[in-house]
Amino acid sequence: MNPYRGRFAPSPTGPLHFGSLVAALGSWLDARKQGGEWLVRIEDIDWPRRVPGASDAILRTLEACGLEWDGEVLYQSRRTDIYAAALHQLKTTGRLFPCGCSRKEVADSALPAFGGIDNGELIYPGTCRHGLAPGRMPRAWRVNVTGTTLAFDDAIQGRIRQDLEHEVGDFVVKRADGLFAYQLAVVVDDAEQNITDVVRGADLLDSTPRQIFLQQLLKLPQPHYAHLPVAVNAAGEKLSKQTFAQAIGNRRATAALFAGLQFLGQSPPAELAGQQTRDILAWATTHWSLAAVPRTRALPSPL
Ligand code: GLU
Repeated sequence: MNPYRGRFAPSPTGPLHFGSLVAALGSWLDARKQGGEWLVRIEDIDWPRRVPGASDAILRTLEACGLEWDGEVLYQSRRTDIYAAALHQLKTTGRLFPCGCSRKEVADSALPAFGGIDNGELIYPGTCRHGLAPGRMPRAWRVNVTGTTLAFDDAIQGRIRQDLEHEVGDFVVKRADGLFAYQLAVVVDDAEQNITDVVRGADLLDSTPRQIFLQQLLKLPQPHYAHLPVAVNAAGEKLSKQTFAQAIGNRRATAALFAGLQFLGQSPPAELAGQQTRDILAWATTHWSLAAVPRTRALPSPL
């Protein structure tokens, strides 16, 4: 058995808010409870969305919360050669194809989704799957998912099954703007960092079968997955910069940790609320129970 290795992989699109703190806390506790390592990876590959200073702000807030990481922080923006090698390897599987369609063309002929995907992604109609039409220039690279249904057991959300062909469609691994897509980068990095356990928000549950498919194509090991409920605001929207989620900052660390434990179903005793981050985390590590985490994809945010 490989020793437990977990990770937190924030995108630096803004400071840490309650929703991202919950993902950090849940993955940290699961790793520490099992005597494992916990790594931090800054997912700044989509650099047009990067907010200057956000990576450092996130790291400083993790420190203020006492969520110490092991080893060096990995930055995806410095790893494009590694993703290029993975893309090259994908070419040998016969599942990768260049696509010449613009966003508008895909939107105009997209197939209606009949599954769980609700993040605004469109189901690719397969236009370039069997070759580019004459005169077409390749724009993006996609993976052909024809005939692929995948299932896995999530430690919190239970058995998840997805028909990739009808619920997701041929997905992009290298974008028309030349950037590698999150789905490819995350799979390559989780494998290279020997991550055994991925504990993250349930907003990524629908992405997991795509990631497992890429692991299979690239012959990489499949980690265990546990998807925590996502914190949503009063309008039912996931906390994010776009929904004006408040930053935890470095002064609200103890209150945020305490609220995070309650959110994760851990029932911390009331007297813990006034204590130092180190005492809160010590209690939480001893008492951490993945089984106590609510088995739902979303919960109202207390902060
Ligand atoms: N970078 C992704 C995000 O912030 C998370 C990736 C992951 O945990 O797999 O939503």
